[in-house]
This record gives sequence, C-alpha cells and structure tokens, in this order.
Amino acid sequence: MSNQYDAIIIGAGISGMYQLHTLREQGLSVKVYEAGTGVGGAWYWNKYPGCRFDSESYTYGYSWSEEVLQEWDYKERFAAQPDTERYLNFVADKYDFRKDIQFSTRVTKATYDEAAKQWEVELDDGSTARAETLVSASGPLNAHTLPRIPGIDSFKGEWAHTARYPKEGFGGRGIDQFKGKRVGVIGTGATGVQVIQEVAKTADSLTVFQLAPEWCAPLKNGPISSEEMKNIKANYKTIFAECNETFGAFRHKFDERSALEVSDEEREAFFEKKYHESGFGIWLGNFHDIMTDRKANDLITDFIARKIRSRVNDPKTAESLIPKDHGFGTRRVPMETQYFECYNKPNVKLVNLKWTPIEEIVPEGVKCNDELYELDIIIYATGFDAVTGSLKRIDITGKDGAKLTDKWANGPRTLLGMQTAGFPNLFTLVGPHNGATFCNIPRCIEQNVEWVADTVKYMKKNDFHSIEPSLEAEDAWTIHVDETAEGTLFPSADSWFMGVNINDPSKKRTFMLYAGGQQNYRAECDKVAENDYAGFVLK
Ligand code: NAP
Repeated sequence: MSNQYDAIIIGAGISGMYQLHTLREQGLSVKVYEAGTGVGGAWYWNKYPGCRFDSESYTYGYSWSEEVLQEWDYKERFAAQPDTERYLNFVADKYDFRKDIQFSTRVTKATYDEAAKQWEVELDDGSTARAETLVSASGPLNAHTLPRIPGIDSFKGEWAHTARYPKEGFGGRGIDQFKGKRVGVIGTGATGVQVIQEVAKTADSLTVFQLAPEWCAPLKNGPISSEEMKNIKANYKTIFAECNETFGAFRHKFDERSALEVSDEEREAFFEKKYHESGFGIWLGNFHDIMTDRKANDLITDFIARKIRSRVNDPKTAESLIPKDHGFGTRRVPMETQYFECYNKPNVKLVNLKWTPIEEIVPEGVKCNDELYELDIIIYATGFDAVTGSLKRIDITGKDGAKLTDKWANGPRTLLGMQTAGFPNLFTLVGPHNGATFCNIPRCIEQNVEWVADTVKYMKKNDFHSIEPSLEAEDAWTIHVDETAEGTLFPSADSWFMGVNINDPSKKRTFMLYAGGQQNYRAECDKVAENDYAGFVLK
C-alpha cells in the first residue's frame, strides 16, 4: 500500500522548502523526499572550501517571511556556504518543515497513473508513495559529473567532486586541511575558481588542470556592519521590488547606453568603475549591448583581458588564463577574490590541458603528456549535467508509457519551463526554459513556487484533477525560448547554458535557460494564469 499525499516534492532545497510551505498553507498533505541528511539543496551538498554565492546576501534570502527577514543578520556582502546552510536550517526549524521531509531518501522512479490521475513515486528503499501533484525541486545544478578519464578509480590518494565534498573535509573543514599536501584541482568554472583561491593559501603545492579559462571578475566581498544590516532590514521591501524590475533579479541593472555610442575615455572609465564594484555589476550592470552585440562585447572582452595580463606576472601563464574562444559574459562569469594572483605564488602551477591533455589518472596522481603530477588530493570541480540532469536521473514515465528522457532526447520541450506535455501535474521548478534558471535564484524561485501554488489552488477550486500543456502551446514556448537566446551572444559559446557537457556527449546542444529577462518571464506566467491557464489543458 502506497503512502498517499496531495502533493509530493522532490528535494528540500530553497525551492522545495518554500513549495512545502505554500502547499501546506492551503491545508494540503505534502511530503518532501530529500536524498541528503539535511535541508539546503545546493547549500547542503556544496561544502567545498571557498563556496559562497555571488548574489548580494540580503537579496538572496526568502522574502515571504517578515520574521525571518528581521531575525536573520548577514555578516558578509556575499555569504559563504556554511552561513547559507545555517540560514536554511534556521528557516526549516522556525516553520517546522522537517516533520514533512523524509531525509536520506532518493526518488528513483515516478510513474503517472492515468486512470487514478496520480503520480506514484518509488523511493530507493523500495517503498512507494502517491500524490496528484508532483513537484520537482531537485535543482538545476545538482547532478554532478566526473570526467571520463582513464584510470580515475586507480588514484590512491583522497578525492572528491566539489558537489559531494566530504562534510568534514580532508581532515577539517578549513583551509588547514591542505597544509603539507599536494593538491590537484581539475576544472576552472565558478566552482573551481573558488576552490583554487582557498587551496592556494595553504597547500604545499597546488596544480590546476585547466581545460578552458573563464572571464573571471572581482567579487569584492566584505563585511556588513550592524548599522548597514539595520538599514537593509528597514528597506527590504524596496530592495526586493528593485530586484523584481531587473533582467536577472539582482540589484544590478543594465546601463541604457550602448558601449559603442560613448567615447573611448568614457567607456574605459565606466568599465573601470564596474570592475571595482562588488558583485555582478561588471556583467549585469554594464552597457546593455555587451550581451547582444559582438562589437560591444569585444570591447569589454578586451578590457578584461588587459586586467588579467596586468594581474599575472608570467606572460605565458596570463595568456593561458585568457579565454580565446568566447567573449566576456557569454558563459557564467565566475566572481573571484585574488584568483589571478594565485598564479604568482611559488606553490601554484597551471597546467593548460589544451597543450598537454590529461592522459590518465594513476595511483600517484595525474599524468599529462608523459609528465606525472604526484598528488595527495584531487578535487574535481568538473560541473554538472545541468538543468535536466537531476530529472534525467529519475526514471520518469508519463501518459501512455512515455519516458521523459526520450521526449527530451533532442532538448527539453516545455511550456513556461513549468510543465511538459504528456506528464500531467508534474511541475519543474527552476527547470529548463524557466526564467528562474538565469536569475538571482531565490527571487525567481519564489515566483515559480507561488505560480505552482496558485495553479494547484485554482485546480482545487474548479475541481480539475489534471493539468498539462497543449502541444501547440509547448511548441510555441520552445520556439520563443530559442528566440530569446538568439537575441543574445549565449549561443556563441559552449557552456551549460547551451546544454554542453563534455562528460556527457549524448547531451544535445540546445539552449537550457530563458533569456528574455525574469520580468518578462514573470509577466508571461501571470498572463497565462489570468487567462485561465491559456495553453494548458485542464481536466
Ligand atoms: P562548470 O561551470 O560547468 O565548470 C566545470 C569546469 O570543469 C570547466 O572548467 C570545465 O571545462 C571543466 N571540466 C569538465 N570536465 C572536464 C574534464 N573531463 N577534464 C578537465 N576539465 C573538465 O561547473 P561549476 O564550476 O561547478 O559551475 C556550475 C555553475 O554553478 C556555475 O556556472 C554557477 O551558476 C553555479 N555556481 C555558483 C557559484 C556562486 O554562486 N558563486 C559558485 C559555484 C558554482 P570546460 O568549460 O572546457 O568544459
């Protein structure tokens, strides 16, 4: 006999917890299944040294609880992982979320029973549960991927992927764990950059294995004083309202001028100012056309390249650290703190895998072009099967026995990034084609969660028991999503935005996000709801 609920949520991260709250508020019975032993999602799993977000802390928290807003103090402009995990535990305790969350439980299978209009989920202990509504809150960056390098299992030292970094580190959580150790880091995306900065501080030696450099820019973290925090607390309403008005729900707003219409001096001064501001201003607060016009993009790209050259002593190393195949901001910009200066330290070595690829991993370390780098620890910062990976890892079967993996084999097809035809009552928070996936995530998570909660309420009120997109509406949204990408320079670069993961060659290159701006996405979702869910089939 299955456990029976009104709604089942997969994942107890930021979105899963808030979805639990909103559905419980409606008096529904809700169960959350979470693979980890605690709440937090990305902030539970990513315990690697240096992990912190690039969103201004006070824009990142939940806005729906005035009590939490007033009770929680942020200590840093960009909070570190332990603080964010603490924050999410604080919220979970305050709202007694844990009583409806089953931890250490992975959903392995989800099958739609058309006759009963219910989902049956199978858990990794073999038990099952049923509900009319199934919400995936499993995260866009959760299904981590390891490289396909020969000999990877032969390494005799310690190793971890950053997204499954051991809770206790390799002998402690701080950077002292690297003292006296020879450490290798593979991968130099936003995660790799954060790890490298920390490991470089104490390791005997750090070898960075870099396939592709990124256009990193300074984070400019710093403390938040109690006076500042008081001011933030008094102004939360304005802060969140401002976020809701911008493209990415950050406080950074694109400048209305074109990079091409100002004088060289004015442009250089503006870039310089942005480079020294904290957070994503250099990306999302820059001239509006740096993300859409190749010539405008070339100008900021050249500026950042000059910055890298000025910060790295060895010209050959500097050239290795400068991307040559994509422009600034066309992949996710990693924010850094003294990242480039790490390469001026005697204990840090950069191995450019474009020149000397990894041949194999051996018990002693990593072998590149016959050179052996002997290591005690290998950290894989090699990324994720992004956006669709966590859904793919569940065996999801919709109507008529259709598999989600088959339906999305050539790329996802959705309406509003919330649902896909043939899989009624399955909602995909922060899923593919969803405005929340290119956003200051908690801001857009709240929109996603509230839209789903309102939809469930609407169905209950009108006695509907099934909702799914019409194929026409799904086709139209999928085309629209591609059009939003074509209006930007994102397709010019290979990245997880474009569904590219070199460790999973079966993944098709197709745009995964929604690039029309979160304000437009929000408006589209509202319009659909106001028009009795136009484009969706309700029964
Ligand atoms: P990522 O951006 O996908 O970077 C993975 C890195 O590993 C890339 O440098 C990649 O090279 C390299 N790599 C992958 N497979 C490899 C292989 N077989 N051999 C050698 N190198 C390999 O992943 P991520 O750094 O974990 O970041 C993912 C996303 O998480 C970010 O874009 C961001 O949205 C989020 N994140 C946020 C924060 C924050 O808020 N501060 C911090 C960390 C992450 P190629 O690029 O050439 O494939």
